[in-house]
Amino acid sequence: MDGFLPVDTGRRRTLKASIGCVGVGLHSGRRATVTLRPAAAGTGIVFRRTDLGIDIPARFDRVGDTRLCTALFAEDMPEARLGTVEHVMAALAGCGIDDAIVAVDGPEVPILDGSAAPFIFLIDCAGVVNSQVARSVIEVLKTVRVEDGTGPGAAWAELHPASLPGFEAELTIDFPNTAIGRQSMNLRVTPDTFRHILADSRTFTLADDITRLRAAGLAQGGSLENAVVVDGPLVVNPGGLRHADEFVRHKLLDVVGDLALAGNPLNARFRGFRSGHALNNRLLRALFADRSAWRLLSPDDALRTSSGSSAARLPAAAAPV
Ligand SMILES: [Zn+2]
Repeated sequence: MDGFLPVDTGRRRTLKASIGCVGVGLHSGRRATVTLRPAAAGTGIVFRRTDLGIDIPARFDRVGDTRLCTALFAEDMPEARLGTVEHVMAALAGCGIDDAIVAVDGPEVPILDGSAAPFIFLIDCAGVVNSQVARSVIEVLKTVRVEDGTGPGAAWAELHPASLPGFEAELTIDFPNTAIGRQSMNLRVTPDTFRHILADSRTFTLADDITRLRAAGLAQGGSLENAVVVDGPLVVNPGGLRHADEFVRHKLLDVVGDLALAGNPLNARFRGFRSGHALNNRLLRALFADRSAWRLLSPDDALRTSSGSSAARLPAAAAPV
């Protein structure tokens, strides 16, 4: 279904129609319905727990749990949680959708096949429409870095000013003595590259970790239908991999989804080593904690960019609707 996206006019986009499906939560094991709905320009992406009647803006400062997924929490309601938001966020960002309601009738977005491809399919079926409202982007002005641990194996993530407009990402992962090994990818993320290179790569886990995860109450809904399982040098799934480097592709998909919680598209270059959900979220928090590291660039600002007059402010909060 190539070519479904309108030409990028710099206008905010939403869905033409509502569309949904039913699936199982990877960690909760609970069956839930997820429905993607159109939203007014300026809404942003808003997650709606329809069973609780509450809205949670898709914002980095609502992330409260990054154990194996990115989970959002409602303000002042720590019990109102929505887990595994990163793959649907990646699909929406990858398709250039700025405004949408993601309605879920339970505590976790269904994992579906473990990739973003089923969400891309839903978005394709619903169609995408441009609004009359111009899109703003967050321009990274200087390098921001976060680290986890010390030594050569320590994980880190960085945001740099973009050399060209848009978002570029470079990631290396390292799982010694497994079928994963060391994999790297450097990609300019566009609707086209997201769709063709990242979208269908699945989440993965090590067989050794499954017992530990289940004991911790996680991965209750995990199966070979929704995750790649790696046992030492072997890929357990009978169908094997979708791509030889499916693992690093999926981790880049996660980066796209996690960084979409900035609230507006990033004009930046991401670099990471063994970066996961926790570091990706810390990176956004570090960026927005330093008011000299970024600015919100509207199309009007771009026209007068030489003046440098754009006032730095937090990206527009996605107001509950
Ligand atoms: Zn993932």
